[in-house]
Amino acid sequence: MSWMKQMRILLPALVLALGLSACGEETPAQAEIFAMDTVMTLTAYGKDGEQAVNDTRQEIQRLDRLLDRTESSSEISQLNERGSAAVSSEVFSLIQSAVTYGSATGHAFDITVAPVVSAWGFTTDHYQVPDQATLSTLLRHVDSDQITLLAGEDGGTVALGQDQTIDLGGIAKGYTSDRAEAIFRAAGVESGSISLGGNVYVQGSKPDGSLWRVAVQDPQNSSAAAVVLELSDAYAVTSGGYQRYFDQDGKRYHHIIDPATGFPADSGLLSVTVVAPANGDTDGTQPGNGTMCDAFSTALFVMGEEKALDFWRSGDYAFDLVLVTGDGRVVVTEGLADSFEQSEGSGYAYEIAH
Ligand code: AMP
Ligand code: MG
Repeated sequence: MSWMKQMRILLPALVLALGLSACGEETPAQAEIFAMDTVMTLTAYGKDGEQAVNDTRQEIQRLDRLLDRTESSSEISQLNERGSAAVSSEVFSLIQSAVTYGSATGHAFDITVAPVVSAWGFTTDHYQVPDQATLSTLLRHVDSDQITLLAGEDGGTVALGQDQTIDLGGIAKGYTSDRAEAIFRAAGVESGSISLGGNVYVQGSKPDGSLWRVAVQDPQNSSAAAVVLELSDAYAVTSGGYQRYFDQDGKRYHHIIDPATGFPADSGLLSVTVVAPANGDTDGTQPGNGTMCDAFSTALFVMGEEKALDFWRSGDYAFDLVLVTGDGRVVVTEGLADSFEQSEGSGYAYEIAH
């Protein structure tokens, strides 16, 4: 990975856990790593912090190799290549969750959008605007309901539909944050945070007892926050068109594809942050709330404000939202009404949704 590429990806990184080093006297164990095409920071306080950070770093690298569809030896590449494959129980559960979230969101989230993502060049960085005929052909195969999952003793068999490939890029970092939580908990870390390029998890509170402050980046100003959330034991996952994009002929094209059109979603939202409580487990290899937040942040960005709020109001899943809209508003759902701080001078109008 060249420095240029690293920098380009680093700059749009969005949710930042603030005040990591400014709290308490104790020096935390910390690591900054580059994986899954993004910069990740891990912080853990306490005597086993060092071990927790090291174990999490290794786990991130393992998951990167397991889930990256551009890595020819990954389980996902093998499945994409063959169309049907026996997979580990971990990959089986993650695909199962992805399919469930696909149905739950009316396929605003759909992992079989992979060939469309590739057609735009987001897997190779050779960006291009595909022609309509190409997109129409590819879109015929986008439907995660065509995936067949057959559970076995240890793992199972996954069969994709005809000409389908899958992309777990919209969910992999969320699952990784679930695994990081389990590792932190098993190590007995009472205070820590992880930030995986827009996927934030905070464990406990800060060592001085105050809540973690998680900044939701202003999509229009990479050095400012649109809002700061005060959280403990929670996930906060952001999707935004500003995180990865290219410009061509005066138009901007970003990486979150609307499976209904094949084009980058144009729903009037600049970013969606999904917040949900920690899983609380110490062994979990099952996808949890980090995975859910990641799937929903992508999906709700595609849906747009109205549908996103309807989905939140349906109450089928427990989460809260921060929506930054293209017309200058920050909409916060009521569960976060007492947990957010407006960003002074940001120019946004703040609203609570009920
Ligand atoms: P996120 O940053 O979590 O919103 O995920 C964006 C990534 O997910 C993209 O870079 C693609 O790899 C993939 N992706 C893009 N559009 C979709 C979609 N509608 N459903 C599922 N995955 C998507
Ligand atoms: Mg996502």
